[in-house]
Amino acid sequence: MRTPLVLGNWKMHGSQAFARALAEAVRARAEAFPGVELGVCPPYVMLPIVAKALDGSRVALGAQNVSEFGEGAYTGEISAGMLKDLGCTHVLVGHFERRQIFAESPVQVVQKLVAAHTAGLVPVLCVGETLAERQAGTTSRVIEAQLQPLLGHPEAAALLVGAIIAYEPVWAIGTGETASPAQAQAVHQDIRKLVAGRAPEAARSLRILYGGSVKPGNATELFAMPDIDGGLIGGAALKAEDFCAIAEAAASKRS
Ligand code: PEP
Repeated sequence: MRTPLVLGNWKMHGSQAFARALAEAVRARAEAFPGVELGVCPPYVMLPIVAKALDGSRVALGAQNVSEFGEGAYTGEISAGMLKDLGCTHVLVGHFERRQIFAESPVQVVQKLVAAHTAGLVPVLCVGETLAERQAGTTSRVIEAQLQPLLGHPEAAALLVGAIIAYEPVWAIGTGETASPAQAQAVHQDIRKLVAGRAPEAARSLRILYGGSVKPGNATELFAMPDIDGGLIGGAALKAEDFCAIAEAAASKRS
């Protein structure tokens, strides 16, 4: 049995006061879902304030991005070691906004995953197809190409232990449109099979999150799918009530 994880991606929203209040509100509700892992990924500059608000709680702290480099003259970058030092346990790598707006390549994304793994962080590798790719029937090929740099890495089996993959169809991110449970399950199953081809042990315990307009109203049916192990939540993570209603849906997967 894989423990469901519900992870909030706050993106570039809020102020220090907003971040503190949101973290405290999530923390206050988190005890109600002991069977679900919960985490939040605030903007970098809010990590210390959120770390303080979550200190001693069961809500994990994550970052939204990380440098592929360890240390040095990389102006504007944040290393995995710095994130660890701030109390982060998780970090997103290859979110579609990073790939699309900031032109991160699949190879660079895996370098970031390696940097996170090396520092002892749990990397959450995001993959997903665009609407045009889905309509062209190339979803599986696109996902396979995004996973290839990881699966082809000489240390793939070790890198996959404890790692998390988030399937986020680009057409569903922030659009209000969600993949149907059957559409999402099909891709999650494909991802698990691809991983099993390289690391069968890791594939069984690999948590694959679904992301893309998950809301309290659609979370239960998505999380009911056998290969969906929780969610990566954007917009709905900015309201503690919605985020925790989604966590409640994940809790019902276990019972
Ligand atoms: C995301 O950006 O990771 C995401 C899933 O966003 P939303 O839930 O708003 O679609």
